[in-house]
Amino acid sequence: MKSIAEGLIEVRKQIAIACENSQREQSSVQLLAVSKTKPATAVQAAYQQGQHKFGENYVQELVTKAQQLADLKDIEWHFIGPIQSNKTKDIAKTAAWVHSVDRAKIIRRLAEQRPSGLRPLNVLIQVNIDDEETKSGVAPSQIAELAALVDDYPQLRLRGLMTIPRANSDEAQQQQSFEHMANLYSELSSQYPEVDTLSMGMSGDLELAIACGSTLVRVGTAIFGART
Ligand SMILES: *Cc1c(COP(=O)(O)O)cnc(C)c1O
Repeated sequence: MKSIAEGLIEVRKQIAIACENSQREQSSVQLLAVSKTKPATAVQAAYQQGQHKFGENYVQELVTKAQQLADLKDIEWHFIGPIQSNKTKDIAKTAAWVHSVDRAKIIRRLAEQRPSGLRPLNVLIQVNIDDEETKSGVAPSQIAELAALVDDYPQLRLRGLMTIPRANSDEAQQQQSFEHMANLYSELSSQYPEVDTLSMGMSGDLELAIACGSTLVRVGTAIFGART
């Protein structure tokens, strides 16, 4: 079995090659290690290899691991899963970033519940780019309204967009979805100077996502191995 350290080295290499192929600086793409369902010891192993940004999908797991690993300096937690409104408080208290914001009620609650001693919560709006019924995220036409609302709250900082394109679609279709996202992102960043993050690409499609302009890839399986 591959170790976490080996997984990280391979993923970093993949990112470097993808950047080279599209003539982008390697520093223009961040790596978020998605540690959902993996124990705190796995996060610690990745942290020891210099990985400081971690993504979690379930609020309880986020809270538990953040408490267990509170001693790790500069560790940064990103919440990337669907958000239920009764769970916003824990997210607001624990995460530095949230990628999955998709409605006004959630924005208001996160802002009200962000503790005043913490820096503003970095917010990405999730876009349901392939209009899938089963997926959270807003339609492209709803981005502007939510962005304006996030921008109104000093407790929140609008940083960009996130997407999870349709699984199992062919590469041409995926590319079209990624390019559509890149256009939406470019429009948003021209309006808001603080917008600097396009979160797209996972273990299976990070090269294509980088070729299309992703600035942050969310990678679980390729680092930590398959989830059971
Ligand atoms: C699980 C998950 C990932 C990581 O997926 P892998 O295929 O394991 O790399 C990325 N983003 C989101 C939103 C996820 O839920």
